[in-house]
Amino acid sequence: MTEASMVIVGGGKAGARAAIAFRENAWKGPVTLISDEALAPYDRPPLSKAAIMEDAEPQPTYLLDDGMMASLEVNFLRGSAVTAIDRSAKTVVLADGKKIPYDRLLIATGAEPRRLSQAGAERALLLRDLADSIKIRSEFIGGKSVAIIGGGFIGLELAASAAKRGCRVTIIEAQPRILMRGVPPEIAARIAARHAEAGVAILTSAVITEIGPDRVLLSDGRQIPADILIAGIGAAPRVKLAESAGLALDNGIACNTYLQTSDPHIFAVGDCCSFPHPIFGNERLRLEAWRNASDQASVAVENMLGGHRPYDAVPWFWTDQYELNLQIAGLPQRGISTVERVPREGAMILCHLDGTGRLVGASGIGPGNSIARDIRLLEMLIGKMAFPDPAALADPSFQLKSLLKP
Ligand code: NAP
Repeated sequence: MTEASMVIVGGGKAGARAAIAFRENAWKGPVTLISDEALAPYDRPPLSKAAIMEDAEPQPTYLLDDGMMASLEVNFLRGSAVTAIDRSAKTVVLADGKKIPYDRLLIATGAEPRRLSQAGAERALLLRDLADSIKIRSEFIGGKSVAIIGGGFIGLELAASAAKRGCRVTIIEAQPRILMRGVPPEIAARIAARHAEAGVAILTSAVITEIGPDRVLLSDGRQIPADILIAGIGAAPRVKLAESAGLALDNGIACNTYLQTSDPHIFAVGDCCSFPHPIFGNERLRLEAWRNASDQASVAVENMLGGHRPYDAVPWFWTDQYELNLQIAGLPQRGISTVERVPREGAMILCHLDGTGRLVGASGIGPGNSIARDIRLLEMLIGKMAFPDPAALADPSFQLKSLLKP
């Protein structure tokens, strides 16, 4: 396949990792990376945290800069939107009409922020790219009121950053609690308490009836001051290209366990794709997570080059707010009982077991790196589909590592 051509659409974490992975896998043929952003691929996790809190003007943290692009001989098409995939001709069509041929195509188009639909919502700021982060940062001036709609990851991380910059912050969440999806209530309560300590007001089960120029009105009559309005109400997978090309969709671009779409020449990775997870009974998942984007790209590239490797990495994500680090491994929502482990004072880990006693998830919160090591070991146990003794899990002096021995 040395003359074949590999094309990646999407210049985020997944696209950048894939470009590198082709060369790591000794692929010598052409690799083209197409991104609709003007910048080379950069890391997004800092955009809601360090980029806003630090004194210095934020700079992109490049994942693949021009120098690396040249040394890896990656043909990088920046500021180029792909408008169509012609599957019979095996080409992608760019906005300027140019056609790029492919033998294998990787779709890594990510997700885009959902928008509010109410009148007045056009003034709500969204966060997806570096320019959004710079804009939000410039608005976070001490003393201003910030209303954040959505108590998910973006909302909470931006709330912590706004509080640090001296703003008066209110989070408006539609659900009865924050982090309703995927984060256990005990952990969400710790995060909520820390926000309250920082002076951030969290309103739950809140229904917005009107968005005014400097406030938000709720159905119970409350008026929330909002010099600055931010919406962090979730993201939708970017599937338009795949859909118009007739690829199968199922909560994102439907892939098999090899991350191959319904067209064997086209693969998809990251926020935009769903896939069956072998360690969770092949339940179809779509994960919006940094590490998933990276791991999937590595596996898809191997398979694009003729490999046959199923994607079976344990889901994992993290968030940092204030001094607290929260990590989730596996699928805690699949557990029916929990065992609490306290690795050190001020830190808490919940081990989630299903009805058969199998470890299916681990969630933890604590200052600094207090939970990192145990979560890493629990993640490995989840991957091994282990049935650990609950008494051992609960005992902080018990070495989890010993459970990993064959
Ligand atoms: P999210 O985590 O899905 O949270 C959005 C929250 O807003 C949900 O609780 C949602 O409730 C609520 N909501 C939806 N519509 C609302 C409305 N009209 N009024 C009030 N609340 C409403 O999404 P996000 O925080 O916007 O993040 C977007 C993407 O960025 C995700 O892919 C996320 O994973 C990613 N991200 C990740 C991290 C991290 O992993 N540390 C950090 C930043 C961003 P429902 O459940 O009812 O919709």
